[in-house]
Order: sequence, then C-alpha cells, then structure tokens
Amino acid sequence: MDRYASAREMTLTLRPDHPVYCFHRNILQEDAIAFRQAFPGKTAYAVKTNGEPFVLETLAQAGVDCFDVASPAEIAAVRAAAPKAEMIYMHPVKAQSDIRLALERYHIRTLALDHEDEVAKILRIVRALDLDPGDITLFVRIATKGHAAYELSKKFGAAPGHAVELLQRIDRIGFRAGICFHVGSQIEETDTYERALASADWVRARAGVPIVALDVGGGFPAEYGSDPRRKAVEVPSTLEILEELRGEIEAWGFADTPLVAEPGRAICARCISLVVRVLLKKGRRLYINDGIWASLSDSWTGKITLPARHIPDPARRQRSGDPSSIIPFKVCGATCDSVDILSRPFWLPETVDTGDWIEIGHIGAYSLALRTHFNGFYPDTIVEVDRPFADDGEPPESFASIETMAD
Ligand SMILES: *Cc1c(COP(=O)(O)O)cnc(C)c1O
Repeated sequence: MDRYASAREMTLTLRPDHPVYCFHRNILQEDAIAFRQAFPGKTAYAVKTNGEPFVLETLAQAGVDCFDVASPAEIAAVRAAAPKAEMIYMHPVKAQSDIRLALERYHIRTLALDHEDEVAKILRIVRALDLDPGDITLFVRIATKGHAAYELSKKFGAAPGHAVELLQRIDRIGFRAGICFHVGSQIEETDTYERALASADWVRARAGVPIVALDVGGGFPAEYGSDPRRKAVEVPSTLEILEELRGEIEAWGFADTPLVAEPGRAICARCISLVVRVLLKKGRRLYINDGIWASLSDSWTGKITLPARHIPDPARRQRSGDPSSIIPFKVCGATCDSVDILSRPFWLPETVDTGDWIEIGHIGAYSLALRTHFNGFYPDTIVEVDRPFADDGEPPESFASIETMAD
C-alpha cells in the first residue's frame, strides 16, 4: 500500500481521476482499543461492516481476537488475516453446507439462530461429525424494538415466548445456551439497549435454563459530521452508550453473565476517507466519479451527515464565486442511470469546479463493503495516509447534509 503524509498530499501528487480510499491505520487501532477498553466483555468485530484484509489484519494487530462472521467468504477472510482469532457465526439463517464448513473445517463453536428448524440443521451436522453439543454455544436471537437509523429486527429475531421455547430446546439437547440481540445500526439513544436487556431478562427468567453468555450485538454509533447551520443534535457517543450500558447490564442482573458485543461501524467508520473527483460541474450539479453503486450507497449515506473537504485543483487559474460561501450542490454519481443521484446535497464552497477533488471523511463502514461493479465502475485504489482526516489542516468546511434538495 503506498503511503502519504496526508490525503491532500496524495491528491496533489497523484491527481487521481478515480476514487481513492485513504486508510488511517492509527485511527482504526485507536477506535478498536477504545471500544475494547470500554466494553466489559468480549469484543467481536462485525466483519460485514468492512472485511478488507488490511482492516482485519490491523484489528488483529490491535488485539482484536474475536470476529462476528456471517458467510464462508467472511470466515475465510478472517482465518487468512487473523489465523488465531476466534469466530462467532451470528447469522441466524444459514445454509446447511455453510454450517458444516464452519463446524468441520473452521472449528467454529458459537452460532446464532431464531427458529427451531435452524436448531435441527445444526444438530444434524453435529451428529454427522460426532461432536459433543456441550462444546457448542447456540445463541437465540431475540427480536427487539427501538430507534436505530437502520432497524434490523424486522428480519430476524424470535418473539419472547418463542425464544423461551428455543432456549429450553437447546438446553435439552445438551448445547450451551446464550441470548443475543442486534438492535440496528447507528443507535442514537441508550433506551434501545435497555429495552433489549429487559426483554432478555424476561426470556431468561421464563426459560429457566443456564445462560452462558449474553451478546448485545452492534449498533454503536460512529461520530460523523454535523450540519454547522443547525443546532447540533445531542447524540450520545459510543463511549457514553457503553457507560450507560454497563449500568443497565448490572440493573437487569446480567453482571455475572459473560458478555459479547459485535461493533462494526463504531470501530471502522473513521479509519477511511475517500477522495473523489468532480468530473463536471453543471450549475448547481456536480458529477463525481463515485456514487450510490460504489462507496456512497445511499441506503446508509442518505441518513448520515458525512464531513467533507474541498481540495481545489491548483491547475485551475480562474474561479468564480466566494470561497467562504458554502452552498448546496446536487451530487450525481458515476453510472449512467438516474438512480445514481444522492438524495441529499453536498455543501461545498461556491468555488468548487470541474477537476477539483472532495475528500469525504469517516466512510470506512459499509462503503467498500457495498461496492458493486455496475456499469464497469469499481473503486479499488487504497493508500495509507498518516494524518487523520479531522486533523488535516483546515477543519472540514463541507458536509453532506441532512436536508433533501429540490430539483
Ligand atoms: C451488521 C451487524 C453488526 C454490526 O452493526 P454496526 O451497526 O455496524 O455496529 C453486528 N451484529 C450483527 C448481527 C449484524 O448484523
């Protein structure tokens, strides 16, 4: 990986015409270490957030020794990057052949489920491989309700009464039983975890079987940007949420239960910034070389205010407008379809023009992971950059805002 002092230096040296991901290794390590220190249990990084080998290797070097995986490809990536790390297979609905692969080839001993048919699938493989169910922990995923930027309990999770039956069934067979939930992503209020803990407590009490662990999932928020023209909305930080969570865990009687968390975004969002180029400026529209089919998948960027920085092309002699006037631009992505227009504007200096670059910060989560090859565009240039996005000279003056823009 080529290495530069700053994203600006990289940009002015390479004058990149294609998107470049700038990896801030120290930030990834800092955020991983901070989470591990603040969480009173096992930290299992959620690989789906960003499963690039350089991310997994850096996390392993920072001491992360457990990974939450959901597919054979994620399992293989973790084994290659961190051969000694533990893996927990927390996808509640798995292919039978993938369960076999996980148990037989990778010796994974922790899995999640939310239905009795999944117990049957796992049991079939356990019997075929002549494994002792007592060596295997099955987490029952319970449904939760809350306010996340992304609600995830719509898809998975057993209702409380059903979860009770599943725990009893698992215990009867001889498996070790755990309870897990995943409240969604970018959680902005601590009540969400409290409600889930209350539900876990109810389920545990009714089930009446030993619970060997409680997995509180992911959802811890990353710090993004804020719209400077608005009153900052008070959003608790991940460390504040963890502080409160510790209290709730105690209050709901889980202090003596081994804990697991599966943070994704909170660990890897800040470690990558992305330099894109303005291919064309057409009035208040900017056509850039990335978009919703690549790093800016609108399903997540559309709900988050990403900080951004204008890197003007020094080769441009003439500019019109006032550089201190920050105005909204509609951003059109690289592909030919009209879906590829960001739902929210980027606020940038009025002087931004064709050939300039925009560095978008804190884009390490769900960006590289969601890239597609649609229309032949697939950003894949990654460099290492020493200076963190937030400290690179002037503070980022621009941002992708919360408002939608009229045509
Ligand atoms: C996606 C996911 C995570 C990570 O979520 P973040 O919001 O990025 O922390 C953790 N656990 C499960 C089960 C997931 O599906």
